[in-house]
Amino acid sequence: MKSYEIAVIGGAFAGLTAAMYSARQGLSTLVVTKDIGGQGLLTTDIQNYPGFKSISGFDLASKFQEQAIEYGAEFEYDEVTGISQDSEGFLLKTTQAEFRADSVILAFGKTPRDLGVKGETAFKGKGVSYCAICDGPLFRGKEVAVAGAGDHALQAGLYLSTVASKVQLILRSQKLVGDEEMIASVNASENIEVKTGSQVTEILGDRQVNRLLVQNSAKVPEEIPVSALFVEMGYLAKTDFVKEFVNLNKDGEIMIDANCATSREGVYAAGDVTNQPFKQAIISAGQGSIAALSAINFVYRKKGKGPVKSDWKFISAKKEGT
Ligand SMILES: Cc1cc2nc3c(=O)[nH]c(=O)nc-3n(C[C@H](O)[C@H](O)[C@H](O)COP(=O)(O)OP(=O)(O)OC[C@H]3O[C@@H](n4cnc5c(N)ncnc54)[C@H](O)[C@@H]3O)c2cc1C
Repeated sequence: MKSYEIAVIGGAFAGLTAAMYSARQGLSTLVVTKDIGGQGLLTTDIQNYPGFKSISGFDLASKFQEQAIEYGAEFEYDEVTGISQDSEGFLLKTTQAEFRADSVILAFGKTPRDLGVKGETAFKGKGVSYCAICDGPLFRGKEVAVAGAGDHALQAGLYLSTVASKVQLILRSQKLVGDEEMIASVNASENIEVKTGSQVTEILGDRQVNRLLVQNSAKVPEEIPVSALFVEMGYLAKTDFVKEFVNLNKDGEIMIDANCATSREGVYAAGDVTNQPFKQAIISAGQGSIAALSAINFVYRKKGKGPVKSDWKFISAKKEGT
């Protein structure tokens, strides 16, 4: 069985940054991931990552990976299905193999809940989006729709009403459900049309989405012309395989402290899979670096070495002259 100093689960902005930091520090580093880019692969245009005016999620993640590989990180394309600890360290179980590590970084993100209708998979990134704030500006001045539930849908509808010419809010519930202030704002908005008791049954288009098939509670079908459909059903942290291993919050997110440490010593977490409230690429990358520095220090301590220079405790101790 192959053994590493640091194993990272997840190959998107959090995991790739963690791997780059750890490998650059000279620690043997493995990234086990299902893909490179994660949720970033769902968008063709990231406009708020510093240093890039506009870049696709794929291109940005590829640059991250290139840098991690340059410093020596290794990659295993597989799904981690289990993690355990014994006297030697941590054991990762994947669908194909097992790996050992002195420290583990959990960076396996979140998955948007699908709507589960015909056309959804084919039009992902081509008008079907799961992030209104990220992709809304791509549809400035156009007609769009939101399909979803609760606060997620209300929030997306309100935000999109500031950029799109018209927003169709398609909800299965018979009335608006969620935060009362947001409901009042939706009702007061001049360019949001609410369709309660309705559901999208098919997403249609050519190369891009151009219309939706919608059915109301009387099962009357209607075709709605739109340039985009925003699916706002919430996000899932698929943390079942770590739920006995580290503490999770009520939403299934991994609880971390300011150093990205989880409830288990030697295990760190970063990015969308954690309980930090803002889910963005830059935040995942930042947390990836924090998790890596913490993990590096854990490994150094385990091996009786001093802390890495960029350890915040080390830096603050030096400033205080101790
Ligand atoms: C449509 C869309 C558009 C977006 N646009 C923007 C934007 O413009 N700007 C911005 O800042 N943010 C944007 N975001 C948010 C951003 O993509 C996420 O915040 C970011 O991708 C989170 O990175 P992450 O590394 O934490 O996790 P994720 O991106 O969720 O990646 C998780 C990684 O873990 C892997 N993985 C999951 N489970 C396992 C497992 N069991 N074993 C092995 N590997 C596993 C996945 O394959 C993936 O590689 C957008 C999100 C979406 C959905």
